[in-house]
Amino acid sequence: MVHLKSPDEIRAIGRCGGIIAALFAEIEPRVQPGVSTAALDRFVDRFVRSHSGAVPAFKGLYGFPGSACISINEEVVHGIPSGRTLQEGDIVSIDVGVKQGGWCADSAYTFPVGEIGAGAAGLLAVTYKALAAGVAAAQPGLHVGDIGAAVVETVRPTGHAIIRDLVGHGIGRAIHEEPQVSNIGRAGFGVPLQAGMVLAIEPMLAVGTDEIRTLRDRWTVTTLDGSLSAHYEHTVAVTVEGPAILTGGGIWDDGLEVDSVRPGHAGAGAGGAVGTGAGATVQQS
Ligand code: MG
Ligand code: MG
Repeated sequence: MVHLKSPDEIRAIGRCGGIIAALFAEIEPRVQPGVSTAALDRFVDRFVRSHSGAVPAFKGLYGFPGSACISINEEVVHGIPSGRTLQEGDIVSIDVGVKQGGWCADSAYTFPVGEIGAGAAGLLAVTYKALAAGVAAAQPGLHVGDIGAAVVETVRPTGHAIIRDLVGHGIGRAIHEEPQVSNIGRAGFGVPLQAGMVLAIEPMLAVGTDEIRTLRDRWTVTTLDGSLSAHYEHTVAVTVEGPAILTGGGIWDDGLEVDSVRPGHAGAGAGGAVGTGAGATVQQS
């Protein structure tokens, strides 16, 4: 079942999302050579819990040990915070879920560590544009396949690989809800998008192969060929006025160039115009 959210519920998810956006802005200057991923994880944990009733949603989720997933270079997702320190030229993805008042938001940002090479910078720019294109397709009347199709259309000319075995998802009371949001999609196919749906849209790209493997720690997913990977993620509400990014603002406002959509704070499109009753549901097709 796909659960549709009321305007009040979307605002509650947006409050969780605002915590993550503020976190990313606060953590950006701390993403420096020599800092350990465990230290970043402690910062995430303290920052999230400093907000009334908020907890890091990944802590203990399926048994994950950290408060954030922190993935360096060829690591795609689910990196476990550790004593490993960041090096000049690394790229590091920080993926954070926040739960507050029974609602969740989920967002990821890949940070450059000091000066990065042209290949890494290009990967970040394309991944960011892929996210923007996917978000722009989160419109009522379109289908979930339009999101993945927009990602493919953005990425294909660049020659980068889209990680197809990892997907975005619905989000709300739980971090992971239906439907799955593939980054490889066919326009017009999949679950119809309706006002009140809230989706975590999260393209994961690699410089080389789209194949991945899971390390022996049973969490860390890396590219099979060891090539660099990047990941950007927003929690987005589908509204009658179009997509409303619930994890925007802060670092996203002065980030990379985005043509198709300007990430912004929740509220503009997430107000009273969602046009759906609380608790309404729709059968997943
Ligand atoms: Mg995430
Ligand atoms: Mg997610």
